[in-house]
Amino acid sequence: MLKDKVAVVTGASRGIGRCIASRLAAEGAVVILNFNGSAKRAEEAAEEIRRNGGKAEAIQCDVSNFSACETFLADVIKRYGRLDILVNNAGITRDNLMMKMKEEDFDAVIDTNLKGAFNCMKFASRQMLKQRSGKIINISSVSGVMGNAGQTNYAASKAGIIGLTKAAARELASRHITVNAIAPGFINTEMTEVLPDAVRAAATAQIPLGIFGEPEDVAGLAAFLASDQANYITGQVICVDGGMAM
Ligand code: NAP
Repeated sequence: MLKDKVAVVTGASRGIGRCIASRLAAEGAVVILNFNGSAKRAEEAAEEIRRNGGKAEAIQCDVSNFSACETFLADVIKRYGRLDILVNNAGITRDNLMMKMKEEDFDAVIDTNLKGAFNCMKFASRQMLKQRSGKIINISSVSGVMGNAGQTNYAASKAGIIGLTKAAARELASRHITVNAIAPGFINTEMTEVLPDAVRAAATAQIPLGIFGEPEDVAGLAAFLASDQANYITGQVICVDGGMAM
């Protein structure tokens, strides 16, 4: 379905990003797995894709760094000749109640989650505009849709992603570039593994389907939005959350 499309997935060393990268590669895309600090794990993820017959490469770039993103994406576009799919998945949490939240924890989350997505979209869309085609998928969160106590920084970054998605969708639509957001609920990854049992139980109680989701649940939607089947879908926020935000 994605044969020979070139895809960049940020934060693909583990969790949802790694799963999206594998899924896009299984559909035939050439996938660049971006990571920041986890070189070994990103390389293992790329190697697993290659072992399964796919095409993949791991490349380091801190998405919060504007000039590093320019260099990273220029390098990908130069070497692969095009860029068809960008998945902005890299994200961090620094949870705390607002009264206790440090300035650096607010800034770090906004810089990685929101500015990181802007940085990559800016330098990817330049090429997509030339091609007159492209699919951009931004990973938001139900936290950005509903808010969540203890996550003012994270919820703001993820709500920001929704605004970024809709504004960019309007800017890029005339060149057949679609921009959509996926808002996952609670998904089983290292990010949620650290939740205390009481928080986990309270979260599960808010999910109509009664369980946490799996990275594959998000990856399936990302692959669909990256495909030609989704050509007429843009500016949308789709929740993958077991019904939590309805
Ligand atoms: P995760 O397991 O913690 O993985 C996060 C990924 O982001 C890692 O690959 C990490 O790579 C990368 N990353 C972090 N900072 C980066 C930076 N500055 N530059 C480049 N890469 C960076 O998280 P996850 O649960 O898979 O979450 C993936 C995305 O889904 C995030 O945007 C998250 O907010 C969102 N989400 C997750 C859930 C959930 O329940 N898990 C729910 C809603 C939304 P390095 O280790 O190399 O830094």
